[in-house]
Amino acid sequence: MIGEKKAFLFDLDGTVYVENSLIRGAREAIGFLKRKNKKVFFLTNNGTNSRRMYCRKLRRMGLMAKTGDIFNSAYLAARYLKKNHPKEGIFAVGEKGLKQELRMANLELTDYRNAKVVIVSLDRKVNYEKLTMAVRAASNGAFFLATNNDTCYPSVGGPAPGAGAILSAIEKGCGRKCDVVLGKPNFLMRDLILEETKLKPDECIIVGDNLDTDILAAKKWKMQSVLVRTGRTERISKKEIADFSRKHGEPTYVIEGIWELKSLFE
Ligand SMILES: [Mg+2]
Repeated sequence: MIGEKKAFLFDLDGTVYVENSLIRGAREAIGFLKRKNKKVFFLTNNGTNSRRMYCRKLRRMGLMAKTGDIFNSAYLAARYLKKNHPKEGIFAVGEKGLKQELRMANLELTDYRNAKVVIVSLDRKVNYEKLTMAVRAASNGAFFLATNNDTCYPSVGGPAPGAGAILSAIEKGCGRKCDVVLGKPNFLMRDLILEETKLKPDECIIVGDNLDTDILAAKKWKMQSVLVRTGRTERISKKEIADFSRKHGEPTYVIEGIWELKSLFE
């Protein structure tokens, strides 16, 4: 039963907001959960912002969040590299938020020639030169990882290419698959959440708009899930949801959008 869950893990893009606009009912749904003493966390594969930047963005939209409430792929990348490649220079294809998380973990960013690690994330200013540098670092044998592999993400005018699209270009260019993809549905993200929150999988429910990341993560991580038909899923057919469900199992709940979450408690 959804009412018995202790923690709600909300995806952000397409679930809580699209770019800088909150999806209707988001503030009310989160307020409702907090009044019921539920823990609310935000869980995103989008690596463009650091946790601090996400807190500021959510606060601007009227949603209170502390850095400890945010689990994003840039933070996970910093934690992962700190543990596994702490002394190695990193070449990053990514935005300010990723670099901020890496620096906060005292990791060293370097140019592609000296890189022992190359990390790929969503970079909305990516160009041929950056792709070339990443291809060269990976071809030189650097450890090659990606914050996430989302093919696209919802933006105001429709879908926009995600980190996965950039990753594909680099993988093609160097003729090598990356060594690890960190974000949802990877178990590394689950382990980070469970370690930091002390929750158990059956106490959590994931709310998200993406079958291949949010709902698949819930299936693999043994958590319940709510699929919202906004953002990524707004345009997909019932058949696509049925195809996914046949392969991986159904989302626990399907609702039109976050504004309907409260009705699941009735
Ligand atoms: Mg999403």
